Amino acid sequence: SQVKELVSHKGDVAFLADLEHALRFSLRHEVGSRKHMTGPVLNALRNYLIIIKRHFPLSVSGKTLLNLLTDHVNSVTELSGEDWRKLLTEEESKLTLPVWTERNEFLGCRGSQPNYRGYPCSLWTTFHVLTVDALVSPDSGRPRDVLEAILGYVTHFFGCAECSKHFQGMASETMFSEINSHEKSVLWLWQGHNKVNKRLAGDATEDPAFPKIIFPSVDRCPGCRDNGEWVEHEVLQYLQSVYSHNSLSLIGAA
Ligand code: FAD
Repeated sequence: SQVKELVSHKGDVAFLADLEHALRFSLRHEVGSRKHMTGPVLNALRNYLIIIKRHFPLSVSGKTLLNLLTDHVNSVTELSGEDWRKLLTEEESKLTLPVWTERNEFLGCRGSQPNYRGYPCSLWTTFHVLTVDALVSPDSGRPRDVLEAILGYVTHFFGCAECSKHFQGMASETMFSEINSHEKSVLWLWQGHNKVNKRLAGDATEDPAFPKIIFPSVDRCPGCRDNGEWVEHEVLQYLQSVYSHNSLSLIGAA
């Protein structure tokens, strides 16, 4: 009820608890379900971990865990999913991290039925937080770093094969030619997500209680459109107001 109240009062809200859930599921279940990682797959994991360390709102113990995982991945040339899962379990138990305790509830990404929303929703939310943080943080690396790492993750680890194929298609059309600033990176992901929303509106996978819209709605951001045209600096500001670290709701977070 606290979540409902916040959402009805504030509108688009991202929850740190959902991000933590996404990260845990991605590392344990998606990376952990790879049989054998080497070459480009292992590189995609390295780049994902770098971006998480740089731009995910980690707790102190979460940072320690990410450092340990990164050191390990950098010291090997091949890795099995099974060894990865063992490593995660071992390191987690040493740190007794509340952040990594198994949790089944999503907050902002909770569907009206268990088969709706959930993990893919929390992954999008995480990706938006990562691109927005690269825009506002001083330690941002190159403008394309975050999207390249996201693309590597989606290509090699995301369990939804159809989603991965579509995302790779979108990336090959525009990502590499267009991204030369952190602003463009945030906007590229926002536009890409809207293309997916448009394609999936009315689809059987759509939660009837959360219809797909072109985001943000006019109600939530009246200044984001002018005569039907996007006002990009307003969109950027709106995305920051939802996805920057200090905008995240801490309800239910570790
Ligand atoms: P989601 O689309 O998951 O969005 C989560 C939240 O993000 C929304 O509630 C809203 O608050 C916010 N949001 C919505 N649009 C935007 C935007 N443009 N910019 C910023 N924030 C926004 N499913 C398929 O069936 N086919 C696919 O090809 C496919 N491709 C995917 C690709 C990726 C990379 C990911 C992560 C998921 C993909 N999915 C795909 C899943 C699908 O996009 C949704 O995640 C899923 O249907 C759940 O939808 P949802 O209603 O929870 O909202």
